[in-house]
Amino acid sequence: SQIMSRGLPKQKPIEGVKQVIVVASGKGGVGKSTTAVNLALALAANELSKAVGLLDVDVYGPSIPKMMNLKGNPELSQSNLMRPLLNYGIACMSMGFLVEETAPLVWRGLMVMSAIEKLLRQVDWGQLDYLVVDMPPGTGDVQLSVSQNIPISGAVIVSTPQDIALMDAHRGAEMFRKVHVPVLGLVQNMSVFQCPKCKHKTHIFGADGARRLARTLDLDILGDIPLHLNIREASDTGQPIVFSQPESDEKTLGHLTFRTT
Ligand code: ADP
Repeated sequence: SQIMSRGLPKQKPIEGVKQVIVVASGKGGVGKSTTAVNLALALAANELSKAVGLLDVDVYGPSIPKMMNLKGNPELSQSNLMRPLLNYGIACMSMGFLVEETAPLVWRGLMVMSAIEKLLRQVDWGQLDYLVVDMPPGTGDVQLSVSQNIPISGAVIVSTPQDIALMDAHRGAEMFRKVHVPVLGLVQNMSVFQCPKCKHKTHIFGADGARRLARTLDLDILGDIPLHLNIREASDTGQPIVFSQPESDEKTLGHLTFRTT
């Protein structure tokens, strides 16, 4: 595109933030926000004890407020920066804190770029080891401008094993490579459902699609998360699974521990 051919504009770090990890997906509804939330919690949990923030730039469908059981308006610091809201030890900021949940989408359309600018530059994060960014789905203007505005240590791409989701995930990985953001790997979500009664396993969205894509793109699979009622319930009640059921089966998200049942 035009923006890319003009070369990369100068990126400016977010004050106080050491590393930015973006969580992205090609398609909506594949578990991107769930992954972002639980990745943040896993980084902050006792084993790693990192100072972690969670930034929701999914401006059209912010899910972080609900998943982190937070609502309200951020207070302003003395230097007029917004203070993140805190739960489970994670500093959170979201478009959802700034506009009414029921505000018409056309409003948001007009406000998107200025909202992104606010979310990237006008938040007082304090000192963070990691800022996990929940991106909007797809490969549009928002993803591109976030990638060009701030230095990103790496991108985690989430996909179900379904062909259409994989195609979009592939496009997402290509976009990050074009703007020189290292892709850390893929998370395969919802690949298997095990019946709690008869224990039979069903691959509802296909079995190994993300693994195949990982091979094609020469990427690692960072985690393979089953479709499970507890994960959905944990999200919906604002008690993320890594926080609420840390004793459940372990799944590995790279060197991080991402636990699911
Ligand atoms: P996205 O951010 O990609 O739109 P979400 O993380 O919001 O997707 O997930 C969409 C819905 O699916 C949410 O209700 C979430 O709780 C649920 N969900 C995500 N992953 C799983 C899973 N592995 N098992 C069960 N439900 C899941």
